[in-house]
Formats: sequence, structure tokens, C-alpha cells
Amino acid sequence: MISVEEARERILAFFERLPPEEKPVLDAQGQVLAEDVTAGFDIPPLANTSMDGYAVRAADTSGASDSSPVRLRVIAELAAGYVSEAEVTAGTAVRIMTGAPIPRGADAVVPFEETDEPEGRGAGSFAKGAPYVGVLKTASAGANVRPAGEDVQRGDIVLRRGATLGPAQIGVLASLGQATVRVYRRPVVAVLSTGDELLEPGAPLAPGKIYDSNAYSISAMVTEAGGIPKRLGIATDTIEALTVKLRSGLDADMLITSAGVSRGDYDVVKDVLVKEGQIDFWTVRMRPGKPLAFGAFPSGDRRVPHLGLPGNPVSSMMTFELFGRPAIYKMLGKSGWERSAVRAVAEERIENYDSRRVYARAVLTQRDGQYYATLTGSQSSGALTSMALANALAVVPEDIAAIEPGDEVTCLLLA
Ligand code: AMP
Ligand code: MG
Repeated sequence: MISVEEARERILAFFERLPPEEKPVLDAQGQVLAEDVTAGFDIPPLANTSMDGYAVRAADTSGASDSSPVRLRVIAELAAGYVSEAEVTAGTAVRIMTGAPIPRGADAVVPFEETDEPEGRGAGSFAKGAPYVGVLKTASAGANVRPAGEDVQRGDIVLRRGATLGPAQIGVLASLGQATVRVYRRPVVAVLSTGDELLEPGAPLAPGKIYDSNAYSISAMVTEAGGIPKRLGIATDTIEALTVKLRSGLDADMLITSAGVSRGDYDVVKDVLVKEGQIDFWTVRMRPGKPLAFGAFPSGDRRVPHLGLPGNPVSSMMTFELFGRPAIYKMLGKSGWERSAVRAVAEERIENYDSRRVYARAVLTQRDGQYYATLTGSQSSGALTSMALANALAVVPEDIAAIEPGDEVTCLLLA
């Protein structure tokens, strides 16, 4: 038996970050920047007002109050999106809207609320003939002025290579005027189910058959991890079917099969895996999900890595979680595949009868600043609903025979 860490190390050694691609900014969500992003201009490009009001010379407003307003002549009106030729000279002001560039000569903006136009008179009031405004408060220089380059200065490295693009990073790229971005390519992951018993959902149930759930849960996990699943369908347990299906997945960056790797298994799957590629069969010290196969298939001048997951639905998801997901992160150039962990008080007994590492499906709740963990019912590796109900995995270490109620246990957060 090998440890979870050893299995993961051996697997990850096989993967590399994929080459970059250029794509529309919004399509790159969740992907990793392949280059530093440098600002070609200041943001904002020009000093502008953060309030609707009047652009003034601060010195002109000195001593202004409700009882003795300072009267300024309004020489122009300026909306966001335009620049004004007008220059604010002593005794004058420009009526100005949020986002509009500060006109020459002005160094402060007096908001409407601090003038005798408290509600604003509405757009066009200047044109309609309101040539004077009364300022009711002293403005200090720079008041309500957002300086050019307040957010970003030309030449700044705004985002670094290796950053993952989330909503804020995508917004920043757009603010720099970028329509496309260079990111590391997403891996295409071929997913193949094997077994004579499997039916495609949608087909009528028949005696002895079950629906193929692994292809669905694993494909969804691939998507969640940032990969692109490519379902190859179901291969029956014959050499021909399996060979054809396997070969149809060799253009992918990674091939995942489920079932056919456990000891008592019908040998066809193993035979084909061994014949078509290079493959190791491992027993990993974990529950659920002990049997695991890993290898590579030659495809032209490439070798396509192959992860062979156990067939039991929970085992299959758990081994993907521990080995497939980190591999996808590595291909994406992304760090941080590790789940966040918290310590929780176990509310029931979690057994570990044969010294493996147990990943028990748990529901974590928080009361009075303390986490509590309960199990999601049957922990059978065939009980997929135990996964569906879980928001965490309670981890029992190899050398602990049981977590008793009231004991602390480490829980990995799934959401
Ligand atoms: P095996 O690894 O072939 O021995 O399969 C172990 C168990 O997982 C058996 O009960 C199979 O019926 C079940 N199983 C295998 N493949 C799938 C699948 N794609 N979806 C749901 N259950 C499966
Ligand atoms: Mg089978």
C-alpha cells in the first residue's frame, strides 16, 4: 500500500502546465494569467469629479457659509464623457457631473448639497439660464477630485503572471481596455466508464443494470476544477469495445476511466490497459477508494496520462478529488488545490478499522463559534447520496482506530 501523498506525488510528476492561449477576457474566468499585465495609461486617465456639483478654485470659496454664500459665475456645464475648453478663473465655476474631467483652473468640486442648488436643477439648467451659483461652504483644495492615476499608473504591473482571473481581475483587464488575454489553456479530460452493467441515463432500466453515474459526477468535478470534460461514453467489458473507446480519448490532455481496477475484477479492463499503454496498479492507503491505476498511453509523439479510478461511485469521486483535481490544477498553472481545513467536534463515532486514512462524508455546522461534524448516513462506497449530502470530509488519520463523539477531527471544506 502507498500513502495518499505518495500516490499524488507520483501522479503530479507526470503533469505540466499547458501552453498559453489568447482568448476573450470574459471567457478566461478561472484561468491563470500567462503574462504580467502592464498599464499603458493612467486610470483614471484624467483628474475627474467624484460628485455632481461645481468645479471651482478652492481659494474662491474661502469664508463661504449659509449666511454669506460666495457667488460664482457659471461659465459652462460638463457631463461625464466630455472635456471642456472652459478655464475656471477667479470668481467662476463649471457645473459638472460625476466622472467628468476637472476643467483647467479648478482644483475642487463643491457638491450641489453645499450650494444654493441643493437638489440640482437638472441637466440643462445652465443653458436655461442659471448663470450664478451660491457656494455655502468652504472647499479645500482637492475636495471631491479623483486625481489621474489614482487607481493605476501608467507602467504599473497591475496583474502578475500566475494570478487566477476572477470577476475583479476580469474587470481590471477591461478597465485597461484589453479585449483578450493570454492564459494557460484548460485541459481537456476524457472520461470513460467501463462495465457491462452500465446504462446511459435516459435509457429504460433493465434487470441487472445500473445507470452510469461516475461519468457524470467525474465530468462535473472536471468542470469544477477548471478542466473541459469530454465524455467517451460507456465501454462494455470486451477487448474490442474498450480499445476503441480508449483510443477515441487519446487527443485529450488526460484520460480518466472508472471501474475495472479492483483485484477481483473481470480482467479485460486491466488487460487492455496494460496492452495499450504503460500502467501501474496501486493500492492506496485510503477509504473509500483503495484501488487506483495510473499510467500513460502513447499517442503519436505524446504520452497521454491515464488515471484509472475505482468503480464504486463514492470511491471514484474521492480518488478524483485527491488525485485528479490536483492534476488539473497543475495543468492550469494554478496553485491551491488543497481544501481549506477546520477542526470540528465529532458528534458521532467515525471508525477506522484497518489503519487506512478515512475520508468520511460529513455535514459541518457552526454553533457558538465551534464547528460540529455529523456523518451523512451510510458510509458505504456505493452510497453516492452520502456525497450529495456532505459539505465536508472528516479525515481520520491512518494511526487512529476511531474518532469518538466529542473528539476533535480535521474536516476539509468541500464548498
Ligand atoms: P468495479 O470497479 O468494476 O469492480 O466496480 C465496482 C462497483 O462500482 C460495482 O458495483 C459497479 O457496478 C460500480 N460501478 C462501476 N462503474 C460505475 C459507474 N460508471 N457508475 C456507477 N457505478 C459504477
Ligand atoms: Mg466492473
